[in-house]
Amino acid sequence: MSLPRKHLFSIPEGVIYLDGNSLGVLPAAARERAAQVIGDEWGQQLIRAWNTADWMSLPQRVGDRIAGLIGAPKGSVATGDTLSIKVFQALAAALDMRPDRKVVLSDNGNFPTDLYMAQGLARLIDKGHEIRTPAPEDVPDAIDDSVAVVMLTHVDYRTGRLHDMAAITRAAHDAGAVMIWDLAHSAGALPLDIAGSQAEFAVGCTYKYLNGGPGAPAFIYARPDIVEDLAPALCGWMGHDAPFAMELGYRPAMSTERLRVGTPPIIQLSILDTALDVWDGVSMEELRQASIGLSELFIAEVEKRCPGLRLASPRDPAARGSQVSFAFDQGYAAMQALIERGVIGDFRAPDIMRFGFTPLYLDKADVRAAADHIEAVISQEIWRDPKYQVKSRVT
Ligand SMILES: *Cc1c(COP(=O)(O)O)cnc(C)c1O
Repeated sequence: MSLPRKHLFSIPEGVIYLDGNSLGVLPAAARERAAQVIGDEWGQQLIRAWNTADWMSLPQRVGDRIAGLIGAPKGSVATGDTLSIKVFQALAAALDMRPDRKVVLSDNGNFPTDLYMAQGLARLIDKGHEIRTPAPEDVPDAIDDSVAVVMLTHVDYRTGRLHDMAAITRAAHDAGAVMIWDLAHSAGALPLDIAGSQAEFAVGCTYKYLNGGPGAPAFIYARPDIVEDLAPALCGWMGHDAPFAMELGYRPAMSTERLRVGTPPIIQLSILDTALDVWDGVSMEELRQASIGLSELFIAEVEKRCPGLRLASPRDPAARGSQVSFAFDQGYAAMQALIERGVIGDFRAPDIMRFGFTPLYLDKADVRAAADHIEAVISQEIWRDPKYQVKSRVT
């Protein structure tokens, strides 16, 4: 089956959805799986379902499917919690691997929660760790032998700018640092070879390009050869070697499972499990080519029709992920006007209009139709209507 595969998704009538980088659309089969897990498994089987519906192995089974999408071996990805928690766990374990160093190197394009978690962890550890955030392009030069951990988000959430995973990981290792990649905007967006990169850790969420639904569980990868020496900061019973032995002392599982914490979110994991079916038979190389085709067409159409919008993403498609951003000082109001017309993207302060390209359920006709609406909103100044200036809590 080639791309797109729109029939597998439940897209509202009249909507062109360019926000799959923030919250993916509902895979049609996920609706039935949700009804089944709630009605039959929870409703009828009740606690027996941990065995009868094999809830107990669901986190590992889903982890193995995500592993296949990020270039990681089976057994190397644990699922659960939220990405913020997984960032905390990866960073805590990574800092523990370099006790003599006190610098966490990130960048000022990182997603705020990653930096906040690092700040909170540094305060908790209370050993004088410093979090450095140079501009993204200055990261390679900022890697030196004071750095304990390089912690970066692969694709910038505002601009789509892509870090060179292989080169930066190599530079981090040459300097003796541990590497953590946040794949929030990469998993399901482009081909990844996390094992080949040799990075120690990767983390990500599943409600963006993986379509797991709002609040779907996060994932964490740890390089298999380091797992048995990792010190988990959050020692929950689901990361214990034998949770139902109910021992009083913590003894971590001898696998990536030690990076789990508590009871898995079974309903969300079940939905995610079914959502991942849409990837069966998808070549990530083909997906990447389709993504580039859509984003190149979008940039060409918008620039031709709307000279007032300035491209805020790298022009070279090889240097961006699967999103395109345009800067426009009335971007918030313009995005509200677009959303009312059924073209759904989003806005990030101060002036970024963000559009995600998800080739599983978008085609070139969608891109041209979206460009028609953008042209109308900008050239007719439809955004001037005061109703589009009203700020919502989520932008
Ligand atoms: C989306 C995103 C998050 C969100 O974290 P949650 O804990 O799931 O809310 C974190 N980091 C990055 C880089 C993201 O893109």
